[in-house]
Amino acid sequence: MTIAPQPGILNIALYQSGASSIDGVSNVLKLSSNENPLGTSPAAVEAYQRAAHQLHRYPGTDHAALRGAIGEVHGLDPERIICGVGSDEVLQFIAQAYAGPGDEVIVTQHGFSMYPILAHAVGATPVEVAERERVVDVDAILAACTDRTRIVFIANPANPTSTMIGEAETRRLAEGLPEKAVLVLDGAYAEFVEGFDGGAGLVDDYPNVVMTRTFSKIYGLGGLRIGWGYARREVIDVLNRLRQPFNLSAGQMAAAEAAVRDLAFTEKCRSENARLRHWLSEALAELGVPTDTSMANFVLARFASPAEADACDAHLKSEGLIVRQTGGYQLPQCLRITVGDEIACRRVVAAVKGFKAAQG
Ligand code: PMP
Repeated sequence: MTIAPQPGILNIALYQSGASSIDGVSNVLKLSSNENPLGTSPAAVEAYQRAAHQLHRYPGTDHAALRGAIGEVHGLDPERIICGVGSDEVLQFIAQAYAGPGDEVIVTQHGFSMYPILAHAVGATPVEVAERERVVDVDAILAACTDRTRIVFIANPANPTSTMIGEAETRRLAEGLPEKAVLVLDGAYAEFVEGFDGGAGLVDDYPNVVMTRTFSKIYGLGGLRIGWGYARREVIDVLNRLRQPFNLSAGQMAAAEAAVRDLAFTEKCRSENARLRHWLSEALAELGVPTDTSMANFVLARFASPAEADACDAHLKSEGLIVRQTGGYQLPQCLRITVGDEIACRRVVAAVKGFKAAQG
């Protein structure tokens, strides 16, 4: 006898994370998970180590110091912030709170793979909406809304496309959604966009908008799992009811607080990423591999065909470079490449050049 799980669970395709080693190849560089090539703020590492002296103590439950620091740095009300185990957990709270069996959750054609997983996990139906040239299409989303639409997930900038929609488009989306639908603006890559608030202003203006952010990308804390969300107080109150009291450890909170306060490190990561992203995109374009204008810390390299993308991926692997295949995102002719440090970017370009030369 098998025990049947809740409806929807068996529709979930297991999340595939990238490999970090290649059999028989040394000097491997992982450029498949959009990790920070500059590592983590030294202040965050120090704060984490200090927290290790208190491992016998339960952590605080309300994340007050961390929310205070995020609020201070981003100019937001700490009472309207919730922290989670990665932004994935905050996204999960949103799905649990606002969607269930019979409801629809809108995701976009090349959207982040966790969104349909979260929809299925709560028994809701993910509804996939086409994008326009790898950019979120607001008209298509609005046209796909029904009276069963409860959540619309978009990442801005988006993963794996690296593209972004502007504020006017985002406002049009927030204003056009049915009354009961929550618009989730996933700002995992927002810090890479100079002067962008990740959608916080929209949260202030529209009751149905929630913003999520992460410490995994620009703050280089992917290994620690910390994210946060910003919404109206009523929404935060709902999400907090779903949160386990001790979801974040003292070490996670201490490291995240130090990281968000280290403005110099964050700025260095932002400017280095912008400089090398530009260089990498130009160099790939010169080799006949165009990329969309990236607003994030990765580029989506477009090849002539899925076969060419696969062949280039195999060549990169033989050179010790792990990048992300995007066939699962309906982008089989593309490879997503994290913007690494200067040496990493030069290795990528040299390897693609070698691949193209071998092709003749
Ligand atoms: N949203 C997007 C768009 C992402 O790319 C990622 C990480 N791949 C996440 C959310 C989740 O990030 P984390 O759980 O590490 O905060």
